[in-house]
Parts: sequence; C-alpha cells; structure tokens
Amino acid sequence: MYDVERIRGDFPILAREVNGKPLVYLDNGASAQKPQVVIDAVTKTYAEEYANVHRGLHFLSNLATDKYEATRGIVARFMGVADEDEIVFNSGTTEGINTVAYSWAAPRLQAGDEIVLSIMEHHANIVPWHFLRERQGVVIKWVDVAPDGSLDPQAVIDAMGPKTKIVAVTHMSNVLGTVVDVASICTAARERGIATLIDGSQAAVHMPVNVDAIGCDFYAITGHKLYGPSGSGAIFMKKHRQEEMQPFMGGGDMIKEVHRDEVSYNDPPMKFEAGTPGIVQMIGLGVALEYMMGLGMEAIAEHERNIAQYAAQRLSGCNWLQVQGNASGKGAIFSFTLDGAAHAHDISTILDKKGVAVRAGHHCAGPLMDHLKLNATCRASFGLYNTQSEVDVLIEALELARDLFQ
Ligand code: PLP
Repeated sequence: MYDVERIRGDFPILAREVNGKPLVYLDNGASAQKPQVVIDAVTKTYAEEYANVHRGLHFLSNLATDKYEATRGIVARFMGVADEDEIVFNSGTTEGINTVAYSWAAPRLQAGDEIVLSIMEHHANIVPWHFLRERQGVVIKWVDVAPDGSLDPQAVIDAMGPKTKIVAVTHMSNVLGTVVDVASICTAARERGIATLIDGSQAAVHMPVNVDAIGCDFYAITGHKLYGPSGSGAIFMKKHRQEEMQPFMGGGDMIKEVHRDEVSYNDPPMKFEAGTPGIVQMIGLGVALEYMMGLGMEAIAEHERNIAQYAAQRLSGCNWLQVQGNASGKGAIFSFTLDGAAHAHDISTILDKKGVAVRAGHHCAGPLMDHLKLNATCRASFGLYNTQSEVDVLIEALELARDLFQ
C-alpha cells in the first residue's frame, strides 16, 4: 500500500514552511527533493568513506570505488539494461546528449544528413544538434505535435528519410506531460538503420522504464530529478553504438596508455568518463534509485496517475485558466496560463506567497513555446510525495491570483 504520508516523512524539506505557509513543492519537473537516505549517504561518504575512485590502492579508494561502481548496476537495473557496461555515468542529461552529439554524430554526419526532432524537445536535446547544423551543415527536421499535445509516432516515422541518421525525441514532455510512444519510433528507426536517442529526463521519474523493450540506442536520465544529487546522471549506450563512437572528453580514467606520440583508450564505459567523476553524487544517485525501486515504480506511477487525474479535473473546472496539452495518458505535469495580462512570473510570485512552488518561463522549450504562441507558462509538476490536498492548495492560490489580476 502506497502510504504517501509516510513517504513524505522521508523528505525532511517537505516539513518546512515558505512565507509562513506549509511548503507545497510542485516544481519537481525542474528538480526533485531528496529523501533522508540520500542526504545520509552523501554525508556519510564525505564524513567516513571519501577518496578518489579507480586509481587508488588504499582502503578508502577501494571502498569509494566499490560504492561508486555499485551505482552502475543499480542504474542498469532501474533502466532494464542487462549489461552494465552500457551505462555511462555523467552529470546529467545535458552531458549525456552532448556526448552522443560530439562522440557519435559529429564524426559521422555530413552536410545534408538529417536529424529528426520533435518540437517539444528540451533545449538539451536541441542545442547540441544546432551545433551540428551550424558547424557541419546537418539538417534538423522538426515534427509538430497535435493540438492536444500528443506526438503521433507515425509523424516521426514519416519524417525519417534516406538522409536521416538519428532520431532524438523525448519520452515525456517537460512542459505538456505528454508521454511519447518511443518504442514504435525506435522499431521503425531500427528497420531503417537510423540511430535513436531518447531523452528520459522526465519519463524515468514517473514510470517504469525498460530500455530493452523500448529498443533505443541511447537513453539519457538525470539524477537530480530522480530524487538524487544534482550533478549525477547516466546514459544508456548500446554496445555497437559505443564501438562506433570516438571519445569526446580526454583526460584521466578514459585512457589505457598515454605516450608522447600515441594514446590508447580504456574500454567503455570508462572510455566516455574522463576525469574525476561526481563520486559522491553518483553514490547518492544509487541510493535514490534504490529508494524509488523500493517504493515500486509501478506504485509511484499509479499514485501520480491519481494525482494527475485529480489535478486535470480541478484545473478544467477553472475556466479562467488555459491548460496546455491534454493528450491521453499524459503525466502529472501541467502548464497553464491565466486569462488576461497576468504574466506567468507574476502568477508564480503570488503562488509563492502561499507556499506553492511552481516554475514560470519557457521551460527550456523554445520551439514548443513558438508553436503554442506563448512566451511563458506556469508549470505545476508533481512527484511521488505530492497529495491531492496539495492540488487543492494550488487551486486556492490560483483563485487568489485570478482575483488580483482580474
Ligand atoms: N530534457 C528534459 C525533458 C528536461 O526536462 C531536462 C531538465 O529540465 C533536461 C533534458 C536537462 O536536464 P539536465 O539539466 O539535468 O541536464
């Protein structure tokens, strides 16, 4: 049984007040709060178990290495990956996607080759491809979303042509909450010999993810949204794609030997992990993912489905609000604007006075904002510890904003 009140007790920050009101934290899409077990793991590592990893032959280095490397197996299990060498650690999705762009795409894509993106991508899954457009003449093909915010997999498949080399799409929109049928897209791409990158930054937080079943080449996750430390993350890279890749960053750990006139590289995943990594962050991420799997990813998804349904129903009762995107199966992420001239920033400031934390702005999704003809929205994004009564507090605070601005 999913006991949300007990779960809330695991997150010390949820007990605090903001502006004299109990905190209602609805900015999980930007970053999630951390359970005590993660905070404890970080503290304990620094206090008792810290040293650099891999290179040392002393007790603490071996201990830190064991704990750090244990996270690789945990991430693999979390993502449904059998071979943990296909998991490359990094600082988050931005680094993961840049690694694919620099290590896989840049050396092989020629002028005129195509990259297919949906218009609801986060800038982390746009700007690295713009670099290739600007620097190498690669063409970006954009696939629109339907008016309800859904992404028709067939539209993505139709955009794949003889020059398409990679399709890079989000599994879940950070603005609309739309969940994309990435498995169908990956199947079609595989049949055509096209590589696939899935941005799992949002999806992996809210639902069980099985990379094997999805059948993609690359799947990126980011630790700070997964209740883990900021600066932690990982990307699944299929073995045969790793073999096609040149390392992007050079430095310690990613090499076998370095001499004056020659260098040889370590085997993956180390080949793609140059320099001293986020040791403590990655240990904390392992604890966070164990925590989530302990609650059960299906149980978390079920809890959030209930919240999403309730929030959708309450928000649809506010006819002075425009909610963006109502695709079926959408997750618990709601972007909205208010009738009249009230700017999203002003609304979020009023909500903040009531202790309600939401995000306002373009949400790093410029092409989607252009498509919606909006400069900014307010976004309430729910996590595993949110409750229906917090939806009620959000609505009350929004009513206050409406009264002030109308
Ligand atoms: N992709 C999506 C869909 C996101 O929501 C985010 C973060 O907001 C990112 C990528 C970038 O993640 P990070 O900033 O952790 O690298």
